[in-house]
Amino acid sequence: MSDFPEFIKFLYEEYRHLNSGSLASYIPELTKADPNWFAISIVTKEGEIFEIGDHLQNFTIQSISKVFVYGMALEDCDRETLLEKIGVEPTGDPFNSVIRLDENSKRPDNPMVNAGAIATAGLIKGSNATEKLNRMLDMFRRYIGHDVFIDAPVFMSERATGHRNRALANLLLNFDIIENNIEEILDFYFQQCALVVNCHDLAVMAATLANRGINPIAKKQAVKPCYVRDILSVMYTCGMYNYAGEWAYRVGIPAKSGVSGGIIGVIPDRAGIAVFSPLIDSRGNSVRGIKVFEALSDQFNLHLFDSPLPKCSFLDISKNSEELISKPLKVTFDKSKSL
Ligand code: GLN
Repeated sequence: MSDFPEFIKFLYEEYRHLNSGSLASYIPELTKADPNWFAISIVTKEGEIFEIGDHLQNFTIQSISKVFVYGMALEDCDRETLLEKIGVEPTGDPFNSVIRLDENSKRPDNPMVNAGAIATAGLIKGSNATEKLNRMLDMFRRYIGHDVFIDAPVFMSERATGHRNRALANLLLNFDIIENNIEEILDFYFQQCALVVNCHDLAVMAATLANRGINPIAKKQAVKPCYVRDILSVMYTCGMYNYAGEWAYRVGIPAKSGVSGGIIGVIPDRAGIAVFSPLIDSRGNSVRGIKVFEALSDQFNLHLFDSPLPKCSFLDISKNSEELISKPLKVTFDKSKSL
């Protein structure tokens, strides 16, 4: 047995009792989550799967959806047209910030913050709301590899309380970024956020991005390969909101978080990683999720700017693990404790 699955079990045991952070409460339905839920899933581009914990527990995808809907908008509009409407600059502001859009750019800074994601939703093609929704669900089906559905209570809960998002949509209309169908666009955005996934699904979706847009299990193309680079770039620079810089520094993996507690990370040409734990910090990122990604990145040299390992598949990394495990770690991996 290689050390890699053991290390995942070790991380799971190490962090399952870390209880800092809190459940997102500004969307009332999200407070129904169990704070103990915890899962780690990894899917390689060869389709191998390592997972532990509550990886089949369903939850709503929330902001992680922004990554995939942005891919759809790239296909619908092309890169340059999209850039005119939505930038690719990190903000350093909270994900739901209103002030920046009004004071500075008059155009959303990037598609990972709410302003940019709502603008993205407004650019999705379709002759009516149902067609747009069906296109979105088809897109998610390709990434996930099985049927998908929307959590109606979470959708309704956010629709009833999403006043900041409504304010952002009104500003976007004022700046001619979206058209005058605000409620339809917001519904689309709230629906994408209420898509039901589990940690396993998220790892498959991330692995699809790692695999040039081809779902490594279902073997289906989910997004055109030419846009994967754009998607990963905004994930790297903007995916963790006002933690994006420190994340890039410490973890160095293109990633995206959501307030329901998921984080995905993409190791290009190797694997997708997903962690799920609903306790989030003040920036909206899963507390345990950050810890697990930091440790994985450290242990397996996954930072994009780590000096290159010998060319090997993700699994082959375990062959180098004797050497890797001797790296100083922020957490101590006691092999005798592993299952
Ligand atoms: N639906 C949430 C919102 O718009 C998504 C936010 C998030 O996951 N960071 O506020």
